[in-house]
Amino acid sequence: MLDVLIIGGGPAGLAAALYAGRAQLKGLLLEKLSPGGQVLVTDFVENYPGFPDGVTGFELVDKMAQQAKKFGVEIKNGEVSEIKKEGHGFVVILSNGERIETKTVIVATGATHRNLGVKGERELTGKGVSYCATCDGPFFRDQEVAVVGGGDSAIQEAIFLTKFAKKIYVIHRRDELRAVKILQERAFSNPKIEFIWDSVVEEILGENQVEGVRIRHVKTGALSDLSVQGVFIFIGIEPNTSLVKGLIKLDDRNFIKTDEWMRTSLKGIYAAGDCRSKPLLQIVTAVAEGATAAFAVQHDLE
Ligand code: NAP
Repeated sequence: MLDVLIIGGGPAGLAAALYAGRAQLKGLLLEKLSPGGQVLVTDFVENYPGFPDGVTGFELVDKMAQQAKKFGVEIKNGEVSEIKKEGHGFVVILSNGERIETKTVIVATGATHRNLGVKGERELTGKGVSYCATCDGPFFRDQEVAVVGGGDSAIQEAIFLTKFAKKIYVIHRRDELRAVKILQERAFSNPKIEFIWDSVVEEILGENQVEGVRIRHVKTGALSDLSVQGVFIFIGIEPNTSLVKGLIKLDDRNFIKTDEWMRTSLKGIYAAGDCRSKPLLQIVTAVAEGATAAFAVQHDLE
């Protein structure tokens, strides 16, 4: 039986693995894809302490994974389909049918991008509609693209896209951005970025490839079509918590509620990172919570 099973290999899970390993807990980290989570598709990280010149998302999580492995927690691929309380511990069933017994579980399943839910979005995903500028930006060299959203992701990725696209329209539903001020300033002073305020995307246009977006001005109701070859959607994230719904308490937006030790409402289950209900979703908070969760596991098992 494991001491701790960590579900999810983003910064929160990797930090939990590092601290669990150093506490000499018998641990396993399961990750669906490759370790890194959302940071893996982040071009550049400028606000993680210790890197005054910034660091690529890939390099940062690659180093985190190497450091976690060094202290003995195994990292392997696997998708959890069910967590069952059994006796003093848990039985975790993987999608391949494998059964893992563990005394405790740290849920670090992160979050996934939200969809716009408009006509054309699903049909044209991968054909001009994208949720990852780092992955798809280079395909739009010298083209015109739209970015939807006004948060940190939308503005940071719009700035990144200026490396490739000749024009970026940021379509935002209000007349004020949510993004942190330093990103706002950079975007406002970038001649390739134009803002379309108080507007929402009604439809993504195109047959087999994105050809444009239909925009509605929220104050006047006026509809207009904008010709673009790509649409990047960054309108927030949804927590990946369907696995634990019904097992532990979630908030009204489905993020996991914990105490300051990262303990959830069910003894033996802890949560850390973007799947957790909290005010600041950052790499720096995710790693702190992963460390705290592993510390709490060690403390509670003792
Ligand atoms: P976010 O902060 O929740 O922002 C989402 C944006 O999309 C908001 O501007 C919102 O508009 C807009 N929006 C939401 N639903 C919409 C809809 N249906 N149609 C049109 N627009 C819609 O999400 P995020 O930017 O993905 O960031 C997620 C978290 O990660 C945040 O906590 C963020 O700080 C963090 N993050 C940090 C960094 C960094 O530190 N560099 C980078 C990326 C992400 P309103 O403003 O009107 O609500």
